[in-house]
Amino acid sequence: MPYLHGPPEPQAHPVPWNARTTHSSGQSFEQLRQGSLQTGSLFEDVDFPANNTSLFYSERSQVPFEWKRPGFWQHSEWLDVVIDDRLPTFRGRLVFLHSADHTEFWSALLEKAYAKLNGSYEALKGGSTLEAMEDFTGGVAETFLTREAPQDFYTILGKALKRGSLLGCSMDIRNAAESEARTPFGLIKGHAYTITGLDQVDFRGQKIELIRVRNPWGQVEWNGPWSDSSPEWQSVGLADQKRLCHAALDDGEFWMAFQDFRAHFDKVEVCNLSPDALQEDALHRWEVAVHQGSWVRGSTAGGCRNFLDTFWTNPQIKLSLTEKDEGQEECTLLVALMQKDRRKLKRFGADMLTIGYAIYQSPGKDEHLDKDFFRYHASLARSKTFINLREVSDRFRLPPGEYVLVPSTFEPHQEADFCLRIFSEKKTISRDLDGTVDINLPEPSQPKPPEQETEEEQQFRALFQRIAGEDMEVTAEELEYVLNAVLQKRKDLKFKKLSLISCRNIISLMDTSGNGKLEFSEFRVFWDRLKQWINLFIQFDVDKSGTMSSYELRTALRAAGFQLSSRLLQLIILRYADEGLQLDLDDFLNCLVRLENASRVFQALCMKNKDFIHLNINEFINLTMNI
Ligand code: CA
Ligand code: CA
Ligand code: CA
Repeated sequence: MPYLHGPPEPQAHPVPWNARTTHSSGQSFEQLRQGSLQTGSLFEDVDFPANNTSLFYSERSQVPFEWKRPGFWQHSEWLDVVIDDRLPTFRGRLVFLHSADHTEFWSALLEKAYAKLNGSYEALKGGSTLEAMEDFTGGVAETFLTREAPQDFYTILGKALKRGSLLGCSMDIRNAAESEARTPFGLIKGHAYTITGLDQVDFRGQKIELIRVRNPWGQVEWNGPWSDSSPEWQSVGLADQKRLCHAALDDGEFWMAFQDFRAHFDKVEVCNLSPDALQEDALHRWEVAVHQGSWVRGSTAGGCRNFLDTFWTNPQIKLSLTEKDEGQEECTLLVALMQKDRRKLKRFGADMLTIGYAIYQSPGKDEHLDKDFFRYHASLARSKTFINLREVSDRFRLPPGEYVLVPSTFEPHQEADFCLRIFSEKKTISRDLDGTVDINLPEPSQPKPPEQETEEEQQFRALFQRIAGEDMEVTAEELEYVLNAVLQKRKDLKFKKLSLISCRNIISLMDTSGNGKLEFSEFRVFWDRLKQWINLFIQFDVDKSGTMSSYELRTALRAAGFQLSSRLLQLIILRYADEGLQLDLDDFLNCLVRLENASRVFQALCMKNKDFIHLNINEFINLTMNI
């Protein structure tokens, strides 16, 4: 169970005025409140009822919980999850999160809202304070181990405080008995402190770096050097004392030397707020770019670089770093990759996936990088680990330039939606390399006039006459018959059957005269194309399985001139691949012919140098039924 220690300053987290309503009634908080006021009754939340279904999804209740309403009830303005005020209690005490002050219900109500967002209280188990902080602020969390922190750690924390980030620190515990154990220096192990300030003082001709830490209990303080009534303060000028608001109050807040801080505390957690969570303009903000995407089995769920065959199919995001940090030679980036809605899905057995990302130097082209690129180029930077946390975030310093970032799950074929956030000191231009569609088809070949026919071509004409029959036109049924007879004989294809629908599609693509049949000149063009299609199939069936996997298909389509968006590829796989993500020749032809047909129609209707067409409903239906 996550715990939230001490409420952060509420004014720092305004909910955007257009916060999305999440209640099933479709009513906003204001509307629900108005309803309760009119009927004079206390609000009962039907979406998250006061019974065990809201507490657990798998565990059985050990004790009978009683849901009570706290008498101090006050709603937090910035919550956009409407909850009622019933909280699970046992023997008159709150069961889950509670404040030291038993009359303060702020944190408990907050946790309830968080539990509702995630489906149940049990779904919160194994979550962290950081996750909760992120959910309430929309920020990005970073964890630093003080022992391994970078050289400029003090500067990093200083900048974070200036940006209005939320900073927490803690000491590790080795076992449960150490939890909340008090050290001889007055510090509590396994307890979440807040960092509230950073400053320097002149002390006997030396500059001393200080850090201000707050125990959210509001008492129990550090008693070492620079603590409230330590002798060091006597050697500090009054002005400095005043500036640091040094007062020996037993309020839980204290200064300590940064050096001592690093020696005593193990971990610092920083929740970097995005600009929209910050109110004050004066704060030095991060620049933020957000990309939403998904890993879909068979098209974009490529797994990590260990899986070279599929890695390149992952979503790719191009970053252009143009401006260096203030006074620096490099650009600071904070990259946070979050898998979405996994906590909610926990109820249905979904666990966190193992996720991470890699950053490559861009070869300068604005297109999705292919398998060969990743075969021959190593990544410049990576998330520290692939890990099964909701979010993976790391800080990088890169020289200005162009980069491609590849977010992925560890194993291929694992599905999830993700949100990628890139925080940078100066503006970063980022672009999805998967959204672009670019079609580059060969010029359609022209039928030759009969007088130039070679002997071979005359034989071909004789063949056509046998297929077409007396009317000298090939129908879809005739095409189906002849193609099945011909393809059956090929030994290099695992050929089952060509369907009538593929033949109809072929006719639709090749029938330039518009009579629904192929005459000789059309059939001639078709026969050449068929050879190309089959060659494409054989060439890109890399593992010689006789079928085309969804990944092989992506390369084949590209070779055929189709650069498609991730979304379109996902759609094609859903429509044409079988359960094993394979396409046989019939599926392949069906797909390829439709794609080419749609592309050719678009090119024919599209205005010169424009990339759109105008259609009314009649024209649109006409077209789609024809393709
Ligand atoms: Ca015929
Ligand atoms: Ca025709
Ligand atoms: Ca294959």
